[in-house]
Amino acid sequence: MHEYGVAKDILDNILEEARKHNARVVKEVVLDVGSLTMLNPEQLLFCLQAVSGDTIAENMKINLNMLPIKIKCGNGHVSEIKDSMGGDVFRFVTALECPVCGERAGVISGRELILKEITAE
Ligand SMILES: [Zn+2]
Repeated sequence: MHEYGVAKDILDNILEEARKHNARVVKEVVLDVGSLTMLNPEQLLFCLQAVSGDTIAENMKINLNMLPIKIKCGNGHVSEIKDSMGGDVFRFVTALECPVCGERAGVISGRELILKEITAE
């Protein structure tokens, strides 16, 4: 499962940050996750809880911020590709085609996987 490996990497980052600050308990984290990472939020949450067992992050509250995919075409149209567009998400992303004018477009956001905030004591 993709999410499991990613969760371990995220936990390593969290524990590393906590160590730097001599924290004893990690209370809360905020993660920015771009929709283009293809990570399933529920599964990621589940895996994070599983891998953090028996660590100082065991009972942390996990806030996942799912970030939309944004693409921009040669004509300067910036479009947000939403999950609600269903299968079209993949059509627009794989074709990288502007939904407004049909020009070729490039991804400007959606690949993020960032440990944004960590609250620890
Ligand atoms: Zn366009």
